[in-house]
Parts: sequence; structure tokens; C-alpha cells
Amino acid sequence: MKFKTFKGGIHPNDKKELTNKVPVTKHIPLDEIIIPLRQHIGAPCDPLVNVGDYVYMGQKIGESQSFVSAPVHSSVSGTVSAIKSHPHPGGGEAMCVFIKNDYEDKLDPSIKPFSLELNPKSIKDYVDSLDSADIVHKVKESGITGMGGAAFPLHVKLSPPSDCKIDTVLINGAECEPYLTSDHRAMLERPQLIFAGALLVAKAVNAEKIIIAIESNKPDAIELFEEMAKDYPEITIGVLKTKYPQGSEKQLIQAVTKRQVPSGGLPANVGLLVTNIDTCSAVTRAVVMNMPLIERNVTVSGDAVKSPKNLLVRVGVTFQQLFDACDGFIEEPKKIVMGGPMMGIAQSTTEVPVIKGTSGILAFTKPETYGKEEGTCIKCGKCVDVCPMRLMPNALSIFSRMEKVEKLNDYHVMDCMECGSCTYICPQRRFIVQHIKHGKSVVKNSQQKGNK
Ligand code: SF4
Ligand code: SF4
Repeated sequence: MKFKTFKGGIHPNDKKELTNKVPVTKHIPLDEIIIPLRQHIGAPCDPLVNVGDYVYMGQKIGESQSFVSAPVHSSVSGTVSAIKSHPHPGGGEAMCVFIKNDYEDKLDPSIKPFSLELNPKSIKDYVDSLDSADIVHKVKESGITGMGGAAFPLHVKLSPPSDCKIDTVLINGAECEPYLTSDHRAMLERPQLIFAGALLVAKAVNAEKIIIAIESNKPDAIELFEEMAKDYPEITIGVLKTKYPQGSEKQLIQAVTKRQVPSGGLPANVGLLVTNIDTCSAVTRAVVMNMPLIERNVTVSGDAVKSPKNLLVRVGVTFQQLFDACDGFIEEPKKIVMGGPMMGIAQSTTEVPVIKGTSGILAFTKPETYGKEEGTCIKCGKCVDVCPMRLMPNALSIFSRMEKVEKLNDYHVMDCMECGSCTYICPQRRFIVQHIKHGKSVVKNSQQKGNK
């Protein structure tokens, strides 16, 4: 079979065998949960509750009037114990609503029982009966953001500019980061919810076609989805070569559709909407039940974790609780990351809460570059060969350190998606991505100064 792919990329040891065969287990949230009012790209929410208020599970507790934002909801029932700043897994601190769990899981009265029969005919009849605007409204009210990590509010993607016609919805089931298997397990354990959600997303934007793209290292999911797709003529399954960063939006689009998103452009500019695979399950629950996004699969893994596993976790539970649910650490971790090891965000405390975009939390006994000095560039060109954006990482890292704004623009520094492939492959262990991140901030600052 010929697999779809893109030019460049790397093949790190994916370590998915630590968790990919084990069914997801439900995690029971403990005493207090912490819901950040900023969990998405866009404006943070303002609190809708006060200290001392009783809240239901699924009750909206924060929202913003800004279009690019997503409301947040309580993931347990209980009493608001504090509203204060707290460390955030995305970096820095954010205002959070603390809720004392009463362990009753009393549902918000707006949430209905799941009434849809999960078979192809019922799903199609149900989707046909709905209005596109209603789907977008329910997605917005349920606070659904992309669950692959970027956490972009989905209702914004479902409302593309009027001059962009979306013909195809591309569902991202690549999960190309090493260690992460939370999407893989979702594909195996709730496939019909995913298919129903994909149809709902397509209906919302009036797209005719749906492509579900899965990396070749998930043969059981591919087999299951190809069999199921026989009952859905609008859905095809695209099998991707296992390669990092195959799941990054532009690389995925290029591999599956051969369309090229212009520099600084959006998938909608080339007729596409891309969303993460388990986000589709959340869409189905939101539309059928009015259930907001308050829980998700999280992979807890890494060589420091005693019993790596996938957990079904409420938003707001701390990382420490999840590590405890995996029997703690083999030895004290030197590095903790939210997301995958390549693009994930390093954490300075385990007392940060799970947010809507937390696909995994990883703990390592030592960072990849631990104990190594950065060497000088030997001009081997390996970083250029692997860059999926066809950039020159070696030159960009040098211009970044020298803060050469003009050169950085000439070499398209802002097209770097910080995938880390260049750093991974560099035999001299040069901190290329860190340098480029600095270069990007230098360019942004100079643009802001120019605009003043
Ligand atoms: S891979 Fe490292 S050593 Fe080789 S050209 Fe790139 S920066 Fe230089
Ligand atoms: S330059 Fe940027 S896009 Fe290219 S490999 Fe390095 S991190 Fe990835």
C-alpha cells in the first residue's frame, strides 16, 4: 500500500507501545478541581460565578463576549471555593475557578440523556434533520475547542469567511507525536461517536466530503474505520506514512489533498476545514445532549511513570492526581511535559490542571539534551533535509541569535511551526528551535514598533 506523506520530517522512536493496547480507564476527580478561564486561543473568559455558589456538572462558569473565545464549564458538581490566579499548563498563570467536589455529579438541567442510536441510518437521519446554524450554536455553547493541542475554538472554524467555500472536512487522526495514544484509543473505543461528529461538522459548513486521515502505525483503527466507512459514502479513510510531524495541519493537508495553504493563510483558503479526531466525539455529545467539553482522554506516559496508561479525565484535575493514578514515578522526573515530547510544553509544577487541549502528560527521567553542550554548526545540512516547511533552520538559528530582522524575514522565519525536527536531527545538538523562537519574537517586536 502506498502511504500519503509530505517531504521532510523525521522518524523518532514513537514509544506508543507503552499505552496503545490498554483500554482507557475512567479517572475519578478528587476533592477540588481547578478550571482555568483561559483554555483556548483567543480572549480569556470572565467568571460567571462567585465564591460560595453551588454549580452543577456541565454548568457554564465562564465566557467572553469576544467571537474568538470558548466558554468554560464545571466538570463536577460542588461549591466554588475560590477564584484566583494559578499556574497554567500553557505557561505563566491564569485566573481559575476552584470548585470543591461534592462527588454527586449532579448534571446541569440543560443536559439531556444521550438519545441517538449509534448506527449509520439513525446517525444520517439525525444529521439530515438538523440546521447548520443550530450545530454551530451548540458547538459554541459547549465550549468545544480543537483537542489536538492548539485549542482553537471550533465554532470559529465552522464560520469561515463568506468568500471561502469549504468542500472537504479533513479529520486529523495522525497523532504523530511519540508516546501519545489518546486519540488512537478514542478511535477504537468510540468510533461511531467520531463518525457522527464528522458528519455534524461537515453539515455545519455544507462540505460534501470527509476524509479521516490515520497514520499507518494504527492498523487496528484503520481496519475498523475502513470497514465502517463502507456505510458512509461521503467518508473516505486516508492512510498516512508514520512520520513526524505528519499531523501538523499544513503537512496533513499537503499529504492528503495535495493542496498548499498559502504562507500566512488558513485551510479555509483552500476549501478545507481540519479538526482533530476526538473533537468529533465532543461535537456529537454537544449536539445530541448539550454536553459541554468537560472531559477527555489523556495519555499519561514517559520513562519516569510507573504504570503508563490512558485515562478519561475531567478538565480541572491536576497533573499530580493523574501521575498518582498511574502509581507515581519510578524515579523523580527531570522533565514534565504537556503534549508530546516534540512540541509539548515543559512544566515547572505538577499542580497545574488538565485543560481541553491536554492530549497527554509525560514525565521523563532526563531531558533529551540533558548534560550535553551545544556544538558549532558543521554545515551537514541535515536540518534542511528534514524541515517540513522547506526552511533553512541552520541559517535561521544564526540570524535569530544575531537578531537580523531583515534576514529573518527573507528566510521566512514566521513560517517555522516549531516542530523541533531540526533540533532532533542535529548531530551537534544545537538548540535550533529555541533560537528560532527568539528570532520570531524579535521579528514580532520590530513589527509592533513599526506599527506604532
Ligand atoms: S543539522 Fe546542525 S550541524 Fe547540521 S547544518 Fe543543521 S545546524 Fe548545522
Ligand atoms: S525550522 Fe521550524 S519548521 Fe523547520 S524543522 Fe525546524 S522547527 Fe520545524
